[in-house]
Amino acid sequence: MRKPKIVLLGAGYVGMMTASHLQKKLETSEAEITLVNKHEYHYQSTWLHESAAGTVSDDQTVMKISDIIDFNKVNFVKDVVVEIKPDEQKVILENGVLEYDYLVIGLGFEAETFGIEGLKEYAYSITTINACNKIRNKIEENLIKYKETGDEKLLSIIVGGAGFTGMEFIAELGHKVPQLCEKHNIDRNSVKIICVEAMQNALPGFADDLIEYAVRSLESKGIEFRLSNVVKKCTETSIIVENNGEQEEIEAGIVIWAAGIRGSRIVADSPIQNNRGRILVDEFLRAPEYNNIFVAGDCSLVLDPETGRPYPPTAQIAIQQSYPLADNLITLVRGNNKLKAFKFAPKGTVCSLGFDDGVGVVYGVKLSGWKAALMKKVIDNRYLFLLGGVPLVLKKGKFKFI
Ligand SMILES: Cc1cc2nc3c(=O)[nH]c(=O)nc-3n(C[C@H](O)[C@H](O)[C@H](O)COP(=O)(O)OP(=O)(O)OC[C@H]3O[C@@H](n4cnc5c(N)ncnc54)[C@H](O)[C@@H]3O)c2cc1C
Repeated sequence: MRKPKIVLLGAGYVGMMTASHLQKKLETSEAEITLVNKHEYHYQSTWLHESAAGTVSDDQTVMKISDIIDFNKVNFVKDVVVEIKPDEQKVILENGVLEYDYLVIGLGFEAETFGIEGLKEYAYSITTINACNKIRNKIEENLIKYKETGDEKLLSIIVGGAGFTGMEFIAELGHKVPQLCEKHNIDRNSVKIICVEAMQNALPGFADDLIEYAVRSLESKGIEFRLSNVVKKCTETSIIVENNGEQEEIEAGIVIWAAGIRGSRIVADSPIQNNRGRILVDEFLRAPEYNNIFVAGDCSLVLDPETGRPYPPTAQIAIQQSYPLADNLITLVRGNNKLKAFKFAPKGTVCSLGFDDGVGVVYGVKLSGWKAALMKKVIDNRYLFLLGGVPLVLKKGKFKFI
């Protein structure tokens, strides 16, 4: 008898967790499972700000997919998804075509530049492990070039966005830049780290006292905030901002854009109804009009029933989605149709401010300082535990917090 074909696109939180559940719960005789990913490794997107700054090694952020997923149970295809053809139940890859009965889209996020001139061409983004390597290398290269040329703009690091990702990243720079300065014998005070933000406040969505704590903590590490500064243009060597109708050009050795993300372009270009690469899913995480396509993580839009607004895209929601998603696939493969609805249970959010500091709210309790930093490690290590048990926590876990 022909086995149903399940194809999982992307080996991020959605793909890895779903594949891991399926390999535990489904017999190989019941379905053919295929996981497709650009690389043979999985990386933790939630740790990318640390990779970009160089405070955590790629070795820790990245793990071989084969160390987690049993390739005797799940076919792994290292390839790039080029197109989804839902009416033909096919996925076009750079090097082939896959047919499916059930598809899971977990292709994650991309940077959103909102059409701002020059950002695509000149700004760096914290979006993939390779993109983060480029940021890390460019910052150090600039310091080396400064030693040779004395060109001070090379010492100017501009970060666009004081939201969650921007704040976590500049906090890592707050730790890393002094180390780099010592290594290259440069006065730390001559390096500028400037965070440019269009809103009046950093960290939208956080309580005022936590925002104040976070900004003070980062300012004490020599980070400069330019709030209410709207980025208008990026050039190879500067960023142009507008404040109260006045434009200003700030010289930059590197601009890192951390002020917006969107869903995958593959989703955006597909015939499935979507909004900037995000698909509004039904309660069972299915795409509109395609009952055999499930979408989760940053490619999905799930509405908060209380506010009617979409939940922010997070690893937390992606991980929670993977459980009913895998169960629903198993139900369908076994010829049943009683699907499980997904209901997000928000546990809170912690924004790290370096390895030893942070702010957040967990189960309604506000945290700041080392307690928030400790909680962040617990959250990070919990994911490793869910994915690969104690051995993965011991191999890749984070334990340094003071
Ligand atoms: C710096 C940073 C910090 C964050 N911190 C937190 C946090 O503290 N808590 C939290 O809950 N969330 C956090 N997030 C958000 C979180 O990382 C995302 O919500 C999460 O990664 C979404 O999971 P996903 O599985 O949808 O996508 P991803 O984890 O991004 O995985 C997508 C996968 O698809 C692959 N892929 C993409 N396109 C293709 C293609 N065309 N062909 C083949 N493969 C492809 C990618 O290589 C990747 O492996 C953070 C994000 C960033 C950037």
